[in-house]
Amino acid sequence: MKLILLGPPGAGKGTQAKRLEERYGLKQISTGDMLRAEVKSGSEIGQQARAIMERGELVPDAIIIAMLGARVAQPDVAQGFILDGFPRTVPQAEALDLMLREKSMPLDHVIELQVDDAALVERISGRFTCARCGEGYHDRFKQPAKPGVCDVCGSTEFTRRADDKAETVAARLEAYHRQTAPLLPYYAAKGILRVVDGMAEMGEVGKQIAAILGPPPGKG
Ligand code: AMP
Repeated sequence: MKLILLGPPGAGKGTQAKRLEERYGLKQISTGDMLRAEVKSGSEIGQQARAIMERGELVPDAIIIAMLGARVAQPDVAQGFILDGFPRTVPQAEALDLMLREKSMPLDHVIELQVDDAALVERISGRFTCARCGEGYHDRFKQPAKPGVCDVCGSTEFTRRADDKAETVAARLEAYHRQTAPLLPYYAAKGILRVVDGMAEMGEVGKQIAAILGPPPGKG
């Protein structure tokens, strides 16, 4: 199964992608995570992307399309994937169509997580992750059970994204509305766009997505 999770920053795409990985055995492909790894390693792509990401703007299509193209060619995603944070522009969506057509791998669903802008600022500015295992937390909505200790791996190191500052969030939302929202009519016209209520509680959003996808393999 090939899916796209579409929605503004903070809509819960990463959280839902992780749940789907476990439940459906699909691979999450997050271009944001890939870019952060490039920045961390100091690669050429990382050096080009760093300042753009810190401003909350989009990295140029050519860089992203090449990076994504290399990733979807890897064998571990041949059975299926969840795209989280890609495509973000119409040219990226067109490039993806071409890539998947060449591989005869059509997209099954594009799922929009619909959320109010007002909720996003609060969601994004409070989030942090475990530096060791990547488990996500939130100052208000999801603190570790034991303060300062990761529930999953016991680490006491946490990180916050450089672009999760309130100033940058406004620029990221603006980029979403101007450059990414046009993908909604693009996929609606293809008849594969489905909408879920991203304002609902995390488990409920997961249920709405599962209702679209049907039972996981081997559980039908
Ligand atoms: P994310 O983790 O998806 O919120 O992405 C973090 C940042 O990485 C974005 O604000 C962009 O600067 C950059 N980025 C991630 N994915 C893309 C993409 N598909 N196209 C352009 N820029 C991207």
